[in-house]
Amino acid sequence: MKGKIHSFFAGGTVDGPGIRYVIFFKGCPMRCLYCHNPDTWDINGAEEYSVDEIVSKALKYKGYFGSKGGITCTGGEPLVQIDFLIELFKKFKENNINTALDTSGIIFDPNNKELLNKFNELIKYTDLVLLDIKHIDDNEHIKLTSKSNKNILLFAKYLSDNNIKMWIRHVLVPTITLNDEYLIKTKEFIDTLKTVEKIEVLPYHTMAKSKYEKMNLKYPLEGIPEPTKDEVRHAKILLGVIKDESKW
Ligand code: SF4
Repeated sequence: MKGKIHSFFAGGTVDGPGIRYVIFFKGCPMRCLYCHNPDTWDINGAEEYSVDEIVSKALKYKGYFGSKGGITCTGGEPLVQIDFLIELFKKFKENNINTALDTSGIIFDPNNKELLNKFNELIKYTDLVLLDIKHIDDNEHIKLTSKSNKNILLFAKYLSDNNIKMWIRHVLVPTITLNDEYLIKTKEFIDTLKTVEKIEVLPYHTMAKSKYEKMNLKYPLEGIPEPTKDEVRHAKILLGVIKDESKW
């Protein structure tokens, strides 16, 4: 079995704990308006690698991982290639490497028994899930990503029920997610989960614009500004990432 891979990055420090070897998978069924990797959407035309090829690439950096680091699979959406991902994570765990999965969770479907069995297998070898909750309101989620959030929220509950550690990530976009009501609801949902170790607020940025130009795609968020420092701080307070010191 081979995996369709976009690229590799050694020395990642933002996709999980410690220093990480980051593997970017090809293929994603979502079309998030703020996506900064549109070049990963199409699964076709990707380079193909076997599990052993990827593991041996990553193991060259094992000395840099220390006690906290490891590998992170991101994309694109790695779960599109769940069979390959299971084999890859299994092999990394055989080599005592910490495994993190950066995902939108969109592939999860609790009513698909065969797929659920695959998820049950995958989580045996998964140390951490970096789960993007893109919008708490389903209608807004569809507008933002082209898909419903229902199964994504069920995936978060599934991870919690199965004691899988999570970091929740939330991209803060003015006029879309930068909204007190939505942020409070997001926090209320996160509070129902029992394995969340960390909440990360990711301020929307426009750095991907040139990728859209290169791909002859219209940039979807033209005119939407990046959030200000105060707006990011406010969102962090509402999501419980930092305390509101003005109250003390
Ligand atoms: S899920 Fe990730 S890769 Fe897919 S469109 Fe959204 S931001 Fe881009």
